Amino acid sequence: MTSTLLQADTIVTLDAQDQIFEPGYIALEDGRITAIGQDTNIKSSYDEVVDLGESLLMPGLVNTHTHTPMVLFRGLAEGVSLFSMEGFLEVLRVLEGAADESMVAAAVEVSCAEMIRTGTTCFADQYFYMDEILPVVQKSGLRAALAYGIVELGDEASRERELAGATRLLERAKDGPLIKGWVGPHAFFVDNSLEAIQLELDLAEKYQTGFHIHLATNWEEENYCQENYGISAVEQMKKIGVLDYPLLAAHCITIPEEDFPTLAAAPFTAVICPSAAMRSATGSSPLKALQAAGVNTALGSDNVANANSYDMFNEMQLAAKLMSYREQEPAAIPARDILDMATMGGARALGLEDEIGSLEVGKQADIIALDQTSIGWGPRGAQDIFTALVYGISGMHVTDVMVAGNWLLRDTQWTTVNYPAARETMNEDYKELRRRLDA
Ligand SMILES: [Zn+2]
Repeated sequence: MTSTLLQADTIVTLDAQDQIFEPGYIALEDGRITAIGQDTNIKSSYDEVVDLGESLLMPGLVNTHTHTPMVLFRGLAEGVSLFSMEGFLEVLRVLEGAADESMVAAAVEVSCAEMIRTGTTCFADQYFYMDEILPVVQKSGLRAALAYGIVELGDEASRERELAGATRLLERAKDGPLIKGWVGPHAFFVDNSLEAIQLELDLAEKYQTGFHIHLATNWEEENYCQENYGISAVEQMKKIGVLDYPLLAAHCITIPEEDFPTLAAAPFTAVICPSAAMRSATGSSPLKALQAAGVNTALGSDNVANANSYDMFNEMQLAAKLMSYREQEPAAIPARDILDMATMGGARALGLEDEIGSLEVGKQADIIALDQTSIGWGPRGAQDIFTALVYGISGMHVTDVMVAGNWLLRDTQWTTVNYPAARETMNEDYKELRRRLDA
């Protein structure tokens, strides 16, 4: 097996000691990190030496909430809140009704290209059409947690169809190594009945996996559970056993504070999507209080019809500013903690904390390089690097991306996806979608 040595001006490990090496090296073998440090005179013992010059190397980012086919709808839900039942039914479901599975592959390839280009190396997706999504993600070389999105609405026929789709994905994703299948009820109680949730629990148990859901975008499920069960949505989730399984819960805007300790004790992650939340005008998640209570938190882009961009640097910046605004307190969440949400927080959410999320010996080589000669950086040595990464840098600073030791982006050029071709096909797919919508 080939051993590789990466050298660069700056290496930000995001490990528990916050080690930064300037300059530094990372040695790789078989897709994993075998050594990391400051010494740069060790070239001779490696098969291959890659000098990344003035780059900054850091762990790849984790986008913990996406719906990749929806890049086809980007620009079609402007001025609409997709967090409301009205926006969901009158805009999103209309678009989804006009689209079909033939339009999925190109859109997903565009999404993968955008994530790679902006420094995401692992993502958690939730959507139907997983038969079409899975092969494109496999080809992209990205690490992913794919969940079949189940909308059931208490209807027996859709329950059967959706659970069959979810099972098919779990079977196909079983052998990994980069992709793991999850169970994706769109939202408990709101559009998944108790009968469906029970069957979803059986699937999570059988395939030893977790749930990727939307939770508390408004008071809908909270009110439903209070009215029907006389307890909060979180208490009801605990009662039926879903809090025993890993749970990625997107948004978490309207969870009563008294439920936070229950969530902190569960393998639960609140996934905050600041762009989508701000655009939907539904208010912001109580991120600071969730973290103070010990709840794991992570960041996501959500769908780009709602958020416009997959750029996780943008989401980090927005999360930081939104929380300062919400709390009326500068740096209400420190930059290092925001970075943690986009790296280790996502890794913990996916049960991958021993594999990814920081640059450490033994972990997977999921690494991104940023151009430090481009605009946006403070004077060398003057600026705290964590603050620079959160507040000053965009995903377009990313030049190189590696997952499990394989390059997905080299000098800003994709190696696994064909963005120009996928974009052209997506444009053709959109013409057909438009024709159907106008018919
Ligand atoms: Zn979503």
